[in-house]
Amino acid sequence: MALLITNECINCDVCEPECPNGAISEGELIYRIDPGYCTECVGHYGEPQCLKVCPVECIIHDPDHPEDREALQRKYLRLTARAPG
Ligand code: SF4
Ligand code: SF4
Repeated sequence: MALLITNECINCDVCEPECPNGAISEGELIYRIDPGYCTECVGHYGEPQCLKVCPVECIIHDPDHPEDREALQRKYLRLTARAPG
């Protein structure tokens, strides 16, 4: 399951540099997570780094992107696969 940043985000920019997948970016109003790149940190860390550092605890599991650990692992492998050549 990808994670989701909710409206309580205070745009502090603490989470963005911590994401190993580059999934977090500054949105129009608040920061956002691209579900195509969020692996819940599977493959990199034992726990989601953004959740760990967010000072206002505004990051939740995205109910619209349910994925089990195997799916997250597959996404990690896809994202880290080296391009041919
Ligand atoms: Fe990035 Fe990990 Fe947060 Fe997903 S859980 S947005 S991969 S830091
Ligand atoms: Fe928003 Fe939390 Fe990220 Fe700060 S750490 S930008 S409050 S989601």
